[in-house]
Amino acid sequence: MFDYCIVGAGFAGSVLAERLARGGGKRVLVVEKRPHIGGNAYDHYDDAGILVHRYGPHIFHTNSRDVFQYLSRFTEWRPYEHSVLASVDGQRVPIPINLDTLNRLYSRNMTTDEAEAFLDRVAEPHEHPRTSEDVVVARVGRELYEKFFRSYTRKQWGLDPSQLDASVTARVPVRTNRDARYFTDTYQAMPKYGYTRMFEKMLDHENIHLLLQTDYRDIEGLIPYKSMIYTGPVDEYFDYAYGKLPYRSLSFKHETHDQEWFQEAPVVNYPNEHLYTRATEFKYLTGQKHPKTSIVYEYPTDEGDPYYPIPRPENAELYRKYKALADVESRTWFVGRLATYKYYNMDQVVAQALTTYQKILGVASDGSHSTTAPLAG
Ligand code: FAD
Ligand code: UDP
Repeated sequence: MFDYCIVGAGFAGSVLAERLARGGGKRVLVVEKRPHIGGNAYDHYDDAGILVHRYGPHIFHTNSRDVFQYLSRFTEWRPYEHSVLASVDGQRVPIPINLDTLNRLYSRNMTTDEAEAFLDRVAEPHEHPRTSEDVVVARVGRELYEKFFRSYTRKQWGLDPSQLDASVTARVPVRTNRDARYFTDTYQAMPKYGYTRMFEKMLDHENIHLLLQTDYRDIEGLIPYKSMIYTGPVDEYFDYAYGKLPYRSLSFKHETHDQEWFQEAPVVNYPNEHLYTRATEFKYLTGQKHPKTSIVYEYPTDEGDPYYPIPRPENAELYRKYKALADVESRTWFVGRLATYKYYNMDQVVAQALTTYQKILGVASDGSHSTTAPLAG
């Protein structure tokens, strides 16, 4: 008899499997329908021998010391600060918009103060920015919004920015200094030997049993367990009782080129032309040296695996109904980006899983709250 059946071997499932087995001494069965662990963070060596991310670029960044220290048990790191160029008006300029972006786009030589004054002039202030359009237009005005955000967002989400929560485009800051980093988090690094190696270390424990290429529904009733941790789409778990929760998907086009480098930045965003949103060249991320280079284009689509919960009021409303069902499902914990319908980065999922582990310990000790720290053991 297993103590836990964990559905999904991504960050949510793997962190909980690791904690419950190594920290809690539990017997854990991990059931993953794909032929590999790691969820969407899975990486592997392609036919040319280049380390690539199968499901698009995954760059690790966090402000949480706890999350970084926890993952450091399973990997060494390669320091890496991400940067992105956007293809706009025939030029490649830094995104997030910064001083250099403005100067190059408008052929100017502004200082930071002048750039602030420029943005103040073009911005259309909004008292309560509610949508992804409001929040950008309020900061940089309509012209820059259209150049950098409108088409990219319509492509990525199949919706106009005015139909999406402010939190979506608010992920991308605007700066008037020359900082060209995509993220400013305290910890920015890539797992030195890749994500999959890190997951292998997490799951390498005698109390963890892994079943790949298995949908949990196919083993229901066949393998006994006491409780479940579910990290798949929450609407699917409840057989779409209230209808489908919208998730956005992507189709990935991987290519290897017979040249050492393909583009001048790790990622190039395409806010206007082309059906794809961005192109990623993996060797920048991984630091691998190789005479060839591998890249991936991302084409957004409604069909296919669910990758992105879509943050907008009507979806939050529908999710609340599923959450009400999940809250009374006594034997199942719902964790991760798909099961809690949250546009979470990897570090946020790790933090959520560690918090869930803490809650599980509390519940397991029969009402008396456990004092065990989530990282102990
Ligand atoms: P997942 O990784 O989706 O894992 C869930 C697993 O459950 C999957 O492997 C799935 O196959 C399995 N599963 C589902 N249903 C069943 C079933 N019925 N039976 C068995 N198994 C099942 N985050 C960052 O921090 N930085 C980035 O740069 C970044 N880039 C991203 C780029 C893209 C294109 C995408 C899509 C995401 C990106 N993310 C990034 C987010 C990151 O992928 C997620 O935060 C993280 O992987 C979520 O982990 P998870 O365990 O919740 O879900
Ligand atoms: N975005 C945009 N133009 C860009 C970069 C981002 O319009 O050049 C918007 C778009 O809506 C995107 C969101 O900001 O989905 C968040 O961007 P991020 O790079 O964080 O997306 P992710 O890496 O999660 O796909």
